[in-house]
Amino acid sequence: MKIFGIFGDPIEHSLSPAMQNAALLALGETACYHAFRVSREDLSAAILGAKAMGFSGLNLTIPLKEKALQLDILEPDPLASAIGAVNTISFTKSGMVGYNTDGWGALRALYDAGVEIRGKMALIIGAGGAARAIAYTLQQEDAEISIANRSIKKAQELAAQVDACGFGLSDLERLVDKADIIINCTSVGMRMGDPRLLRTGLLKSSQAAFDIIYNRETEFLQDARAAGAVAVDGVMMLVHQGAKALEIWTGKKAPVQVMERAVREALRAKQTGQG
Ligand code: NAP
Repeated sequence: MKIFGIFGDPIEHSLSPAMQNAALLALGETACYHAFRVSREDLSAAILGAKAMGFSGLNLTIPLKEKALQLDILEPDPLASAIGAVNTISFTKSGMVGYNTDGWGALRALYDAGVEIRGKMALIIGAGGAARAIAYTLQQEDAEISIANRSIKKAQELAAQVDACGFGLSDLERLVDKADIIINCTSVGMRMGDPRLLRTGLLKSSQAAFDIIYNRETEFLQDARAAGAVAVDGVMMLVHQGAKALEIWTGKKAPVQVMERAVREALRAKQTGQG
């Protein structure tokens, strides 16, 4: 039996066990994927413990992704180093390698929705961990990037690393008007009743709006659909980052549709109080 896991704190909300167990079953693997609550302080011991117990792969989530990069027990791949965060660990005979598959997940979600990226103007709202991964990935795809964040200093720091411009949220309306692709990488919209990220009526049918939040249909996405824009939700990013991790661990092509179905079913069960 192969064992896989996800470490985070909190971790009860994670949809990865439902998604990855469905995928492992579809691949015919005798395996299980479990969620473990691990604090930042215990991360190194927990990873070493997983290695000692013969785990086949690990995912890391909030608040462990950046901490993992500081541990000298892991060898990060160049993309994870550039992004400054690890969300996937593979155990090999020679050691433990850290990857970041979040940016890949976002890229696949955009391409699946038919969104062109090369040469397009992409506005990233937010400058946290997910924004970093997406900014590095879009830079590699030759998008023209702007970054707007509540803390303008963080926007400017990230912008300097990806050859972009950084702004505060007071510039948002002007930036939205000029953008081809608008990506919400903040946590605004996760909870019903959150303040609006943008006022209604700003989005246009020629634009693509991508909200990486996956637990509910946000007001940002509702506005995008109402405007006739391409609207992409965060579920497909979650699915594709998980699919990439699974492919790293198993070398097999991930069953993306099975994974998407498992995530959407788990979300429905949560919303109806059965999850
Ligand atoms: P993070 O590192 O904590 O960053 C949070 C970002 O949200 C920061 O830019 C922060 O701005 C901004 N923010 C928070 N509250 C705000 C408010 N009231 N007004 C304006 N901006 C606000 O978190 P993260 O890991 O990047 O995750 C961000 C979101 O992406 C979360 O909802 C997470 O669930 C989602 N996510 C989805 C996927 C997926 O696969 N679909 C993957 C990763 C993350 P400041 O810098 O000014 O604080």
